Amino acid sequence: MVDWGYTINKPRAIAYDANDHTWENALQEAVPVLRSCIGCGNCTATCTAGNFVPFNIRKLQTLVRRGEYAGLRKELDKCMLCGKCRLVCPRGINTRKMIVTLKRLLAQPVAAGIPVAPGAASTAGQR
Ligand code: SF4
Ligand code: SF4
Repeated sequence: MVDWGYTINKPRAIAYDANDHTWENALQEAVPVLRSCIGCGNCTATCTAGNFVPFNIRKLQTLVRRGEYAGLRKELDKCMLCGKCRLVCPRGINTRKMIVTLKRLLAQPVAAGIPVAPGAASTAGQR
């Protein structure tokens, strides 16, 4: 077979209906204003942690809202909770509260009223 020096990108279709939305629903219930995010990226552009390590809060919340939790716990640990992202959000979204809420949900899902379904536990906690 001819080596053309490049490969075809893997398809990046979003399997929204197939994803587990347990954590997403709990987050949106705790921080309803998240639904008004317009994806402008101000939060990412001003993020303190993002200046030092690869960390994208806009991407993180977008993935969570799709029900995609790969690497969530590890990503959350990069946030320094400084609150700068909140100050620049044009929709007034408390992004720091979003981070704190996700951490709380991951730490105590049952106490937060989330039944620990196999999919939710494995995707949020282990990846
Ligand atoms: S700054 Fe606010 S509206 Fe813009 S992407 Fe971040 S959370 Fe969404
Ligand atoms: S609170 Fe976290 S996500 Fe927001 S600017 Fe600070 S380090 Fe970045």
